[in-house]
Amino acid sequence: MGFLFRLFSRRSQCPLCFCAAEAAFGRVECANPVCRNFSREFHDRLAANHKTARSPRTERFRAPDPVSIRYRNYLGEGKIFTASRASLYAKNNHIMAVIEPYGGSVSLCRDRITNLGSLGPVPQRGER
Ligand SMILES: [Zn+2]
Repeated sequence: MGFLFRLFSRRSQCPLCFCAAEAAFGRVECANPVCRNFSREFHDRLAANHKTARSPRTERFRAPDPVSIRYRNYLGEGKIFTASRASLYAKNNHIMAVIEPYGGSVSLCRDRITNLGSLGPVPQRGER
């Protein structure tokens, strides 16, 4: 099963926590240890890939000037993301942010961010 999953899976984002994940057959394997979709196998493989990757992004991403974003996902579960303040920008009804620990960009629905007011001014981008 693991082999077949790997064969057909594609890299995506976990719908629960927005961490790096792989999806196939309607199943999601997530690299986030605290997530319900967590897969130890995928986590270890991702870590191994990171070590051999040429990009300097082999370390865990540490957000400079970090800001905490409190978020309620579609299951009503509360999440807290740590994002780089400089990475925040608004696009339509979403806030884009580069988050720890993977340094990936996520798109967060404004209506689900419960501490929007404490994020300060978020520059607008992408509307033309
Ligand atoms: Zn997840």
